[in-house]
Amino acid sequence: MQQPSLHHTSREPEVCHVCGRRAGGIATGPKGDRWLCVECYPLLEYVRDVRRWDGYELAAIADVDTATGEFAAVHGTDIAAMDTETRQALWRCAIRAHQDGIRRALKEAPF
Ligand SMILES: [Zn+2]
Repeated sequence: MQQPSLHHTSREPEVCHVCGRRAGGIATGPKGDRWLCVECYPLLEYVRDVRRWDGYELAAIADVDTATGEFAAVHGTDIAAMDTETRQALWRCAIRAHQDGIRRALKEAPF
């Protein structure tokens, strides 16, 4: 069975188990499939305890929804029709909105 954190063809690490950025060459976890990015290497000994998104991260999805909705109001909803620059701006918008949403959720906790 294919490990979900590995690229489906190269079998190389692709996504950091902690933050979702591009992973490097260190993996941990019971199956050795929890890859880490360079920034998260210091968390190596704690990663086996990292589970799915927590309540703060899930609450931040509302911020992503708002920000990407505003983006779509300006640039449209047809992602396939967007040029590369616009599509990449959408992804940055979503990622930043999620990060900002986590910060907001932490300030508003408990919710
Ligand atoms: Zn990371």
